[in-house]
Amino acid sequence: QGLSLTAGQEERILVFVRLRPLNEKEYARNDVSDWECINNNSIVFKNSLLERSVYPPAYTFDRVFGCECPTRQVYEEAAKEVTLSVVNGINSTFFAYGQTSSGKTYTMGGITEYAIQDIYDYIDTHQEREFVLKFSAMEIYNESVRDLLSTDSTPLRLLDDPEKGTVVERLTEETLTDMSHLMELLAVCEAQRQIGETALNETSSRSHQILRLTIESSAREYLGAGNSSILSASVNFVDLAGSERASQTLNAGARLKEGSHINRSLLTLGTVIRKLSKGRNAHIPYRDSKLTRILQNSLGGNARTAIICTMSPARSHVEQSRNTLLFASCAK
Ligand code: ADP
Ligand code: MG
Repeated sequence: QGLSLTAGQEERILVFVRLRPLNEKEYARNDVSDWECINNNSIVFKNSLLERSVYPPAYTFDRVFGCECPTRQVYEEAAKEVTLSVVNGINSTFFAYGQTSSGKTYTMGGITEYAIQDIYDYIDTHQEREFVLKFSAMEIYNESVRDLLSTDSTPLRLLDDPEKGTVVERLTEETLTDMSHLMELLAVCEAQRQIGETALNETSSRSHQILRLTIESSAREYLGAGNSSILSASVNFVDLAGSERASQTLNAGARLKEGSHINRSLLTLGTVIRKLSKGRNAHIPYRDSKLTRILQNSLGGNARTAIICTMSPARSHVEQSRNTLLFASCAK
């Protein structure tokens, strides 16, 4: 029982980068791809005209995925171990970070499905335990939390529970019957998200989506498993708001005072991730944003955390791509 983690490993945040292909719009305006994955771990800016040095510095991560790499492979190599740790009672969080249109939703969508399919496969081959899967989904927009499984768009409050930590009040939690039930719920979330988007004008680039799967398991005593311990853990799949907002607000001093322009959750997440990656003694400001409060139990400590940073290869996006790689480098 439990994954065999070597000491210290559980605290490290895994950082991945995924480059998407140039899209039609970029081709149409004769944009070109300026980035190249030179091996499994390093990505370089290959345009020597724009790069001052002849040997551009390589950005190195746990794994980088080039534009031909299918999501299945990204899942196998970046997400599988982290997300499957939930069946052993370990909380985990998998994030997608990057500018709007860089491939966050594309990547997270595939990974979420592969992960949950694998969790079901694991359950099928572990009959000695009984598993209960619960699913919930929420969106954070302007520090307001909304239930994506409910048509009621009243903001949800966060409460402090002495045992469970931060709890989202009145959040719908569906007990899953099977994979097709999950697919139905994912469609509900998508529809809810679109409704919000129309009402609030392109919120998807400004809102964070958290899909949470909670797994409870206990030994089936009649099979003589002996171990009666009950395990409970959650895995979170987080599709973050477009990172261009965070870098815009960081760069535009005056704007920082205008509440609506600050994505507090994204900025706080950056701080939390940087502090977690620096080591164990720092004060971690989880309470400074809704996103980090909700995820507190699934970040740091014994939880497993991985971030996939998605980026466009286009020359026209080079500033945002550099910002994304800077964030990724700080998270390592
Ligand atoms: P984001 O969520 O970061 O705004 P999306 O995931 O919506 O970006 O991706 C933008 C567009 O690019 C979508 O049409 C998506 O299908 C496409 N896309 C993203 N990543 C890839 C990829 N790795 N391979 C092929 N198409 C991709
Ligand atoms: Mg998206």
